[in-house]
Amino acid sequence: MKYKFVCPMPFIGLSVESDQSVRLCCHISQRDMIKDTSGKPLRFTQVKNISEIINSNYLKQVRLEMLSNKIPAACQNCHQSEISSGHSPRIEYLREFHTDLEKIAPTIQPDGSIEVEIKHFHYSTDNICNLACRMCHPRYSVKIAHEWEKLGLVRPDDPEFFIDTKKLSLLVEENGLLENLLDHLSEMKITGGEPFLSPYVEFLIKKMAKHPRASEIELSFYTNATTYPNHLLEDFKQFKKISFFCSIDAVEELAEYIRYGCDWNEVKKNLDKFLELSKQPKYDLKIVTTLSAYSLLGLVNLLKFTFSLKIAELAIPEFNPVFAPATLNLNVLPKELLMKIKNEITHFFESNDLDGSIRKRHSVHISKLFSLIDTALKANPGEKFLDFLLFSKKLDQKRGDSMKDVLPLLFKDQPS
Ligand code: SF4
Repeated sequence: MKYKFVCPMPFIGLSVESDQSVRLCCHISQRDMIKDTSGKPLRFTQVKNISEIINSNYLKQVRLEMLSNKIPAACQNCHQSEISSGHSPRIEYLREFHTDLEKIAPTIQPDGSIEVEIKHFHYSTDNICNLACRMCHPRYSVKIAHEWEKLGLVRPDDPEFFIDTKKLSLLVEENGLLENLLDHLSEMKITGGEPFLSPYVEFLIKKMAKHPRASEIELSFYTNATTYPNHLLEDFKQFKKISFFCSIDAVEELAEYIRYGCDWNEVKKNLDKFLELSKQPKYDLKIVTTLSAYSLLGLVNLLKFTFSLKIAELAIPEFNPVFAPATLNLNVLPKELLMKIKNEITHFFESNDLDGSIRKRHSVHISKLFSLIDTALKANPGEKFLDFLLFSKKLDQKRGDSMKDVLPLLFKDQPS
């Protein structure tokens, strides 16, 4: 396309958070949620039709900015990622949806409005989850909401964190928005909470499976792999394709420490089941790793595990940087430690992938990994190390965990 920074998402995409607030895609921050004319967040379950969202003033402006070669403020994450690594979700979406974008962009009205044709829908359906991962938030896990409630940080009746999934299902039935979406949808990405524990997700998938367009729709689930979706296997058969993105940040004790509440042996068993299912052409499996200071420290062990699966496609996970809390960013680690881990990872690749074929296949993931480490090395590494230790210690005390036991490397030269 002739534009400097255009992305399909403001034209054919929509992202809905667990509190039903909406944004143009899942890569922008909470402060860029779409608002109504009075400045209040628009909620998916409250609008009468999708056009109210797609042709909101905010989205009209984003589209016009992109078509006049400006970079919208909300898209800084993609822009920065392209500067540092040459990759971004925008580039991925362009690869996938450029034909749709080329079709729809010329039909844009002078005020930025368009005919609604949602192709890609991200739905963070609710926050039902069995884990309380260290880098998570009450918005995505009711377990953390309960922890925060005990600390007086959230109210027990706050509908943003204590979501009534039955009410949600009824609202979706009533307002018919899902039907609206299914008219053009080609891809639905479902995140939670843990989607396979959510009664709301079960309701949605069973409803969608009966739709005449189900066989044209691909579903992707982001799962913590602590559970296996036996209850949805029959419904999955109706869809075009099913992809499972298993969130695995580390192995063994460190996995249980980071993703608090999980049992590593259960995760491994479920991963085997997902692997078995993914042998069928309709199914796909990927491993995704949230790169935090914790997971970076155990990354070589995780790579040993993914290489041991002996499936080239899964040998190197897709890496996503931790966004919050900032006390878990990679640059909290001291420079020497970051350098040491970087060297260990390089050495691991060199000695375990002698012909370089895995590195070639996963060059995008590897360059993102090293670019995240290099960015951390340039951003005052170690300055917030104490904050990181204090944050971890505070959680350890509440949860009866011990960072010293799972990450002894960190304490080698540190005062206790
Ligand atoms: S450029 Fe990036 S942040 Fe902006 S809409 Fe596209 S994917 Fe989202």
